[in-house]
Amino acid sequence: MSYLDANQKPHAVCVPFPAQGHINPMLKLAKLLHFNGFHITFVNTEYNHKRLLKSRGLDSLNGLPSFRFQTIPDGLPEPEVEGTHHLPSLCDSTRTTCLPHFRNLLSKLNNDFPSVPAVSCIVSDGVMSFTLDAAQEFGIPNVLFWTSSACGFMCYVHYNQLLQRGIVPLKDESYLRNGYLDTTIDWIAGIKEIRLKDIPSFIRTTDPEDIMITFASAECKRAEKACAIILNTFDALEHDVLEAFSSILPPVYSIGPLSFLLDDVSDKSLNAIGSNLWREEPGCLEWLDTKEANTVVYVNFGSVAVMTNDQLIEFAWGLANSNKTFVWVIRPDLVVGEKAVLPPEFVTQTKNRGLLSSWCPQEQVLAHPAITVFLTHNGWNSTLESVCAGVPMICWPFFAEQQTNCRFCCKEWGMGVEIEDVERNQIEMLVREMIEGEKGREMKMKALKWKALAKKAASSPTGSSSVHFQKMIREVLKDK
Ligand code: UDP
Repeated sequence: MSYLDANQKPHAVCVPFPAQGHINPMLKLAKLLHFNGFHITFVNTEYNHKRLLKSRGLDSLNGLPSFRFQTIPDGLPEPEVEGTHHLPSLCDSTRTTCLPHFRNLLSKLNNDFPSVPAVSCIVSDGVMSFTLDAAQEFGIPNVLFWTSSACGFMCYVHYNQLLQRGIVPLKDESYLRNGYLDTTIDWIAGIKEIRLKDIPSFIRTTDPEDIMITFASAECKRAEKACAIILNTFDALEHDVLEAFSSILPPVYSIGPLSFLLDDVSDKSLNAIGSNLWREEPGCLEWLDTKEANTVVYVNFGSVAVMTNDQLIEFAWGLANSNKTFVWVIRPDLVVGEKAVLPPEFVTQTKNRGLLSSWCPQEQVLAHPAITVFLTHNGWNSTLESVCAGVPMICWPFFAEQQTNCRFCCKEWGMGVEIEDVERNQIEMLVREMIEGEKGREMKMKALKWKALAKKAASSPTGSSSVHFQKMIREVLKDK
């Protein structure tokens, strides 16, 4: 018997991992499901819900009766400085404390709201797999949404083989510097060749008990129990890796870029729901309007990456000495343990051609015609947003699978160049090369080619991602 009453809307409970780079794509997916007839309950942690209210205002979150927000605790005290929790603690805490709260929430949704249809499926982040236990108890399907690239995810899936072959853990810290990381690996499914330094940083550890790798590896194992896996990527971009997944995991649906799938959605109330955890500083787009096309460098390191103040100063002088125009987003918590302090001469020298901001509407900024190159940490959302905008990248991967994304940008997709050392001359040279040089021109062409392929996949109803999305709804979320 179907768990769905024929007269009822399907009801999807969407559960992102509580960090910006996970909430953004999950919200897009939830909007798409809503547009396709689902009642949505979107579950944030209490702490993030508060931050969302602060940055967006209550109205933007509660505009639609069939798209509601609920909360569960993350099990941690609020951090002293507003920002992302200490990541290992957050992973550990969500894994060990959220399930009972989530179970109670599902019961409450089914029993206390007569006008809300019974919960019919769960769409949760790949690293919030505790929901699988609740899904089993309630007899409903659970799809896991891994918000990383397919290539990054594939590396995590091979962690045990790396262990078995004795490649990791690293014997000691000296292995991070002695050339060992140049070892080439050619047996990860779907990845022709990759250096050890390009696989996710959590894997390249000296401590096999480290929370981040034990957590990621356990979550990958749990993925085998999901009804399906969703990835925010598209076939043309990561074809070989996606194909290789078919013999490893439950059905994998590549349905990205979600932002292009969302182009179809014209519902104003739905579009108004935002997911910024930081308050957006106004004025960035207006400033860009005053700049010529293809002249501005956009610099942003996402929501988690941090650096030392010395590195910040090297980036500053690299940008200043390039003589190019730039937008640079410096999050209040970007510099480790202190406030970002920029040299006053840098600020004076660049005041007519540099805009400093604390948080901006990144997708709109990247899509602005003035932007010509993105200096990025290669978080998967940022990388894909750059692909969608046809903007090549200067890559400074920080951690997790950002190194893998960087490798693919530079070597497989030909639309990126990597910073080896955070040093002003190198940054100046790369910025100039990307804007004035032949290599930069070639990368721009490649980036535009990938943008066209992304559009083909997700902006037309017959594109691979559009087809997979509809198939996933039909085969997994509605048809059990
Ligand atoms: N973002 C934004 N404005 C900013 C900085 C980041 O809107 O000033 C968004 C960005 O568009 C992306 C997300 O925050 O969707 C960051 O995710 P990503 O995977 O790139 O990196 P993470 O923050 O997880 O390291």
